[in-house]
Amino acid sequence: MRLVLIGPPGSGKGTQAKLLVERQSLKYIGTGVILREAMSRNTETGRLAEPFLKKGHLVPDDLVNELVSDLFTQPNRPDCFVLDGYPRTLAQAVWFDQLLPKLDFNLDAVVQFVVDDEEVVSRLCGRMSCSNPQCGAPYHLRSRPPKQPGICDLCGSPLTQRPDDREETIRARLAVFHQTTDALVEHYRKLGLLREISAYDPVETIYANVIRAIQGT
Ligand SMILES: [Zn+2]
Repeated sequence: MRLVLIGPPGSGKGTQAKLLVERQSLKYIGTGVILREAMSRNTETGRLAEPFLKKGHLVPDDLVNELVSDLFTQPNRPDCFVLDGYPRTLAQAVWFDQLLPKLDFNLDAVVQFVVDDEEVVSRLCGRMSCSNPQCGAPYHLRSRPPKQPGICDLCGSPLTQRPDDREETIRARLAVFHQTTDALVEHYRKLGLLREISAYDPVETIYANVIRAIQGT
């Protein structure tokens, strides 16, 4: 099975990727894996990518494409896999379409976890934790609210929110996600590979829906 997963932060994509890897014996290939493998094999493209990683900058499309090509053309290349985070842009997808026949690979499906922005904001923004380092108890305004607003049930310390979980940060990440992903989704829809899965169901229901959608039953 060869899959590409697409979904915004908070869509549960990571959880589903983990289940697919465990239960279908697939190799997980996230962008981190692509970059680490290139650096560990010390390829020329790996060396070119290193400065971007060290500065925390996004690696340019061309370079990511080369890293992916390196990964799939090496002797012990991954055969069955879940790609997560690649292709990230339409340009990468078009390039990947041209690479696949050279590898004798076909994608079986591109699975999109569909959830609207307001739901993502509500899922991620609600996360809080106890500010007491000895406690650190996690809370969620919707699914696991503290008995008293803003106060830890266990130790009475104030609750805090990580900067990543602030509403403006999440909305900014969603805007970037849509800018690059909407065209990608349309591309795979036209190719007949797109499988849209509602990300509102419980984890096991979503997993069952993914498997059913991939197998086309
Ligand atoms: Zn606490």
